[in-house]
Amino acid sequence: MPTKHDKGRLVAPHFHNLLQVHIEEVNLDTDVLGTFSGEIERVGNSLETAIRKAKLGIEATGNPYVIASEGSITTDPFVPFISADIETLLFIDEELGITVHETVISNQIIAATTTTLKNNLDEFLKRADFPNHALIVKPNIGAGAIKGIRELRELEKAIIEARDKSADGQAIIESDFRAMYSPSRQENISKVGLKLAQRLVNTCPDCHTPGWGLKSYTRGVHCSECGDYAENALKEEILGCAKCEYTKPGAVINVTIDPSRCMSCNP
Ligand SMILES: [Zn+2]
Ligand SMILES: [Zn+2]
Repeated sequence: MPTKHDKGRLVAPHFHNLLQVHIEEVNLDTDVLGTFSGEIERVGNSLETAIRKAKLGIEATGNPYVIASEGSITTDPFVPFISADIETLLFIDEELGITVHETVISNQIIAATTTTLKNNLDEFLKRADFPNHALIVKPNIGAGAIKGIRELRELEKAIIEARDKSADGQAIIESDFRAMYSPSRQENISKVGLKLAQRLVNTCPDCHTPGWGLKSYTRGVHCSECGDYAENALKEEILGCAKCEYTKPGAVINVTIDPSRCMSCNP
């Protein structure tokens, strides 16, 4: 598992317990693929970044089995003003030729940001769960981020430094999302670790390759009131294999849709 941020111990217990797989960290500079604090822009989506990380790990070690993790913290796509941590974990077995991944979307993430223009630092530090969660301080205009801050005196010093460097005399203070500095993110990485290990336990009913699980959905459900057809509503899970084309229906998500979600009953 290529990581700079101490993530191996978060997923290793699940892989050990469910698969008797031993995870070893490979200390690679994964920051070249993008950083949370934005010095290096992440190119592509989380899955693509995880695949690139995994390939670096295979190149560096020659080991055909690799696990790579990638997270992104954004505002929730469905609930405005709420943060969401999207954690992707990927497993590649080059010998079998399979790539299996799982994703967890969690609102259980401490994500706070402020500028020194707004002066209620105490209220902010409570919201940021400081010092349990570490902080980053950077100039509002200009470069020079100070990361991994966990002490009040260190924080005060960093704020003064960043304000001095900033063209407008202001600093930005924000959560440090690197895994070892964010306990709430650590929990989400552990959750996606469990989900991926569980998926690898499940084998294809047809070819017995590990990684059997949710692949996509069928859509199209009728309204329970007027019977109109909502073509985009999720109907049923489709389970699939990591290797062959075999699929099977999974859990039913909606038999009908509620009139409140129907374009005819509730336009
Ligand atoms: Zn199969
Ligand atoms: Zn209807």
